[in-house]
Order: sequence, then structure tokens, then C-alpha cells
Amino acid sequence: MNGSRLYCAELLQILLPLRSILAARFQINEVSCPFCNQVPETATHLFFTCHLAK
Ligand SMILES: [Zn+2]
Repeated sequence: MNGSRLYCAELLQILLPLRSILAARFQINEVSCPFCNQVPETATHLFFTCHLAK
């Protein structure tokens, strides 16, 4: 299971800046967690506090 977990982390590292760029380009104000859509998206939330991202 370590392999898939690592892959997920790498994917998020790619997606995180991408979402910020998209938000800036398309003027999307809301940049919320892609999993729970409730909390402003931060690495801390994604990796440690989001109960849906596990
Ligand atoms: Zn979340």
C-alpha cells in the first residue's frame, strides 16, 4: 500500500499548483479541497486533516 500512497502524494504535489494557476487564470475564487470541498485547500489539510483524502 506504500506505493499507491506515494503515488497519491506525488499526484497531489502536481495538482496543487495546477489548481492555483487555474484559479488565477479563470478567476475562480474558491480553491477548496478537491476531496471534501469544505476547507480551503492547503497541503496540511490534504495530508493530515482531510478525512476524505485517505
Ligand atoms: Zn478535504
